[in-house]
Amino acid sequence: MKPQLIAIDGPVAVGKSSVGSLLAKRLGYVFFDTGMMYRAFTWKVLNSGISIEDEKKLCQLANTTKFDFVPLQEWHLSPLIDDEDVSSKLLCPEVEAQVSLASKIAGVRQTLILEQRKLAQRGKVVMAGRDIGTVVLPWAELKIFLTASTEERARRRHKELLKRGENSSLEIVLADLKKRDEMDIHRTISPLKPAEDAIIIDTENLSLEQVVDKIYTLAVNL
Ligand code: C5P
Repeated sequence: MKPQLIAIDGPVAVGKSSVGSLLAKRLGYVFFDTGMMYRAFTWKVLNSGISIEDEKKLCQLANTTKFDFVPLQEWHLSPLIDDEDVSSKLLCPEVEAQVSLASKIAGVRQTLILEQRKLAQRGKVVMAGRDIGTVVLPWAELKIFLTASTEERARRRHKELLKRGENSSLEIVLADLKKRDEMDIHRTISPLKPAEDAIIIDTENLSLEQVVDKIYTLAVNL
């Protein structure tokens, strides 16, 4: 029997979203990248005038925010925040610089995790993030943790930014990535780490298709 829930975790720019989306399409599942939800919330904070350091106000804001999901493609869900699709605004440097600060707050995480679990109740879901296998869905039947060196991940992100027509310098991308990894790994709440029963896949020398093939094979042979 194929797993109902597949968790894909890993550090910044390791390819969770590209892999997860292709995998979900191939399995006939839906895909959701929880990073986009933390980004959408951060976007709301930045537009609210509240300081990103004000934990109490951020928790209150999370509690009064309406979260939902909308198909970006048939199988690929995107977050809605207060009924608004802000996905096109979430990869900007302002959000990128602040998202790890908003997402280290326990009360904020609690609210977002509840919504992520509600989505998982639909079944046949591939969910990507940092803590899906460890905290959000520890009962997921298949847990994957993707890795690649910092340099390789920076190269991939840099290439992606150039492809999108954005101004990008490899040095800046590398520095930002290291900073965000550092915060995600060392925070007290839900730090980035593989679940004990996660299967670790080193993607350093693998193509996107090869990674998807590996996980697909694991899923259909579970
Ligand atoms: O995956 P992405 O880089 O878009 O995630 C943005 C940020 O959101 C991460 O750096 C991390 O701080 C936070 N995040 C998180 N937990 C998740 C997904 C993302 O804390 N499950």
